[in-house]
Amino acid sequence: MILKMNRAGILMWLLCVPFTLHAQPPVADMHLHYKWTQQDVTSPADAIALLEQQNIVMGVVIGTPAELALELQSLAPDRIVSIFSPYREGGDWHRWAYDGSTVTRARAALASGRYQGIGELHVIGGFAPTLEKAVVLKKLLALGAEFEVPVMIHTEFSRPDFMLNVCGQFPDTHILWAHSGALLEPGAVERVLAHCDNVRGGLGARDPWRFVNNPLTSEAGTLLPEWKALFLKYPERFMVGSDPVWPVDQLDRWDEADSGWQELGRFWTFHRSWLAQLPADVARQIGCENAVALFGRSEQLKCN
Ligand SMILES: [Zn+2]
Repeated sequence: MILKMNRAGILMWLLCVPFTLHAQPPVADMHLHYKWTQQDVTSPADAIALLEQQNIVMGVVIGTPAELALELQSLAPDRIVSIFSPYREGGDWHRWAYDGSTVTRARAALASGRYQGIGELHVIGGFAPTLEKAVVLKKLLALGAEFEVPVMIHTEFSRPDFMLNVCGQFPDTHILWAHSGALLEPGAVERVLAHCDNVRGGLGARDPWRFVNNPLTSEAGTLLPEWKALFLKYPERFMVGSDPVWPVDQLDRWDEADSGWQELGRFWTFHRSWLAQLPADVARQIGCENAVALFGRSEQLKCN
């Protein structure tokens, strides 16, 4: 369609273009997966374009296998942070914790300088070793401190005890707590934050479609008061991620294409809706600044 515009119309159109492209405030996504089951649906170039569309100025990418994150990083080095995932094939989400080669591979990955973190490491009740026997996890946490990079851990238990113990034992490691414990209510999340300064809570997949048992908002979309109070008490300790995995009826599907990146708008529309209910400075910290600062990109990337 060709629109006929006079000069004033063209000027207005030109003035409006930058605002319509980036009408939404900039955000940082601390939880992106790029898996081999996602490549056919969303190419690396498509993924970068989707981040641009959503005004996601920084994205932390977990590749499965790890090298896939580097494909995104090579296309947009300022925008993408790659963290090292030890998962190479289906089932590694529970095997990694018993496999000593995980530590060797993680050390080599960090030493290469191509990865700025480790994760996501799943520690799920019924599959994970007890903390006393979690030798691989402990060595990875020590590596995080040695290389001064964060370690992203996904815990899934009905109580916060595992994280309370882990974070206390590794005070020099920055722990990114994926989904802030996934199942836990805000009071349990607060116990961990109060106990350990080194933990930052992620809010990826705490949306109406995934971890629904302790939702952030009412069905009408209002941020629940317990969560709001927690965000206001610890504005420097939370971050948002989309966790673009879809469909979500089974953990770590390998037999079906994953269209999660095509749902990026859905996930971020939800997160932006509750962020907008916080004071602007807190929303900017949680939505963008905390993640950008943790990965040392505050100089290059602007959150306003
Ligand atoms: Zn997770």
